[in-house]
Amino acid sequence: MYSLPTNMRYVLKKSYTYDKKLRLYLIIHILCELVIPLIALFTTSAIIYMLTNDINVVPYLGIVGLIVLVSLLIQILNSWAFNLYNWRSTFARTSVFFVEISRESITKDYEIIEPKSGQKRLSEGMTSLDSNWVGVEQMLKETPKFFVSAIGLIIYTVIVLIYIPWLLVLFVVMSGVNLYLSYRANKYMKKVYPEASKLNRENYYLKNELTDPKYGKDIRIYEMQPWFLRLFDSITKRRVKLTARIQRRYLLANISDSIFLFIRDGISYAVLILIVIDGKIDVATFSFLLGIIFGFSGWVNGSTSAFNALRKSNIDVNNYRKFVEYENVFNHEEGLPISEVKTPIKITFKDVGFTYPETDKEVIKNFNFSINAGEKIALVGPNGSGKTTLVKLLTGLYRPTKGEILINDVNILKYNINDYMKLFSVVFQDSEPTAFTIYENVSSKPIEETDRERFFEVTEKAGLKEKIESLPNKEYTYITKHFDTEGINLSGGETQKLMLARALYKNAPILILDEPTSALDPLNEEKMYQAYDSFTEGNTSLFISHRLSSTKFCDRIIYLEDGQIKETGTHKELMALKGKYKHIFDTQSQYYKEEEN
Ligand code: ADP
Repeated sequence: MYSLPTNMRYVLKKSYTYDKKLRLYLIIHILCELVIPLIALFTTSAIIYMLTNDINVVPYLGIVGLIVLVSLLIQILNSWAFNLYNWRSTFARTSVFFVEISRESITKDYEIIEPKSGQKRLSEGMTSLDSNWVGVEQMLKETPKFFVSAIGLIIYTVIVLIYIPWLLVLFVVMSGVNLYLSYRANKYMKKVYPEASKLNRENYYLKNELTDPKYGKDIRIYEMQPWFLRLFDSITKRRVKLTARIQRRYLLANISDSIFLFIRDGISYAVLILIVIDGKIDVATFSFLLGIIFGFSGWVNGSTSAFNALRKSNIDVNNYRKFVEYENVFNHEEGLPISEVKTPIKITFKDVGFTYPETDKEVIKNFNFSINAGEKIALVGPNGSGKTTLVKLLTGLYRPTKGEILINDVNILKYNINDYMKLFSVVFQDSEPTAFTIYENVSSKPIEETDRERFFEVTEKAGLKEKIESLPNKEYTYITKHFDTEGINLSGGETQKLMLARALYKNAPILILDEPTSALDPLNEEKMYQAYDSFTEGNTSLFISHRLSSTKFCDRIIYLEDGQIKETGTHKELMALKGKYKHIFDTQSQYYKEEEN
């Protein structure tokens, strides 16, 4: 956790990268805010002095006029600087900070993003950019307020100290009590922060996620509405209660502040009038000191409220930094040269064990296996046996907790992780197209960087040609309506084909297909199996399925259960073994036969 001054420097420095002049506006604004009340105070007192001492004011009227004019100009300068500082700091938040957190959330290692703690860090980091009144922007907006009132406070303290020092003692005691109450309120706020942030997350999910049409069908069919509405109601009530509890603490601080203000002003009046009557000061000094004392409480209030706001924003800014500065776990420095990796690639799992972060169940156990260069491996096994997890380990999304993975006998951690990922074309089970055009989805690049010929070649191979030709906007059709109202939704099977086309377009030396046919009809599935050889030409490949009939076209099969290899060999060998594989294979083919009949 960083201290408040460190974070103030951090936030300002980053904002300067958006607009270097922000610093200039800030300084001008602070100076103007300090000078304006002082000029007014001196001028009034000077005029009263002249009037009460029988000095002819007329010759000085020109000077007074000039001062008023200068004051006006300073006011204008102040408004100018303040306005620019104000809205530019909003843009600094939306450009510099938003861009940074978005970039970090899609470039950081998946291993530190996917787990619950990673999601929590991200959502808390995002909260610090939610609006003008929290986190980063709150800090930017409160910084000038704090400096103005703190410097003002110092100047006025010196003046009070010279004239009526004991009054200062009274002020300090009252301010101390006030500060304490605000401090308590802040401390409470910090204490309930996790609760508030949990409620915010739940609220966000209900409001923004569950209203997504993709849940709409199920919500209606399974009549989940009353449940969700109740949940929404209960979350809202809990949020309101929590806010009320926080507000009560702040209210106490505010009320005490008003009472103290009243006492402070009353005593100051009485004291000043008494010393004027005593003849210790003249009327001009009286007016000057009265101005100082009234201003004094303004500075105290200003600096404490700005300080409290800064402290509050500091919690958020710390959360922001906690996310963006969270250390990656893979190698992001220069690694071994990826271009020198010989293809086809040999893959070796050596004593690999894996437990997901924040869980204690080992989901991959003592996994030892070598995939020869150019070999086609089928990975089969029941749901939850660890097939996808193995893919995540192999592709560098997670590091094994035990053992190591080697490509061509070199530990994969020796490569730069981004270089390493270039070696893979993967269709994940839950891969989803983005809301851009089909063209861009296949190439994973903007239109102008897409290779047309290659696009048509792979979409034909993946069986998507007819679908594309049937669309009015052809390959430039958008998926979903986020970017284009004429965008379309693809069926499950079409999505799988699109994801396959994307993998083929990348044409990486290792091809991994995780349940790529689960949404395809038998005819399309059969077509895909037949085309598999052409997809994998010259590549090492891993084909995952729980449909055992799909494995016949692979060179070898791994039968996985509970994170461990139970059986391995060719289809023939495994059938001859008469073990689990054969048992499941026979059961499944029986279903298929019945279906065919
Ligand atoms: P399969 O692909 O064979 O269906 P998975 O690799 O998806 O199996 O899952 C293996 C085990 O790991 C399961 O028990 C599953 O619940 C668990 N698991 C999968 N993903 C995560 C995750 N992100 N965090 C924690 N546990 C997970």
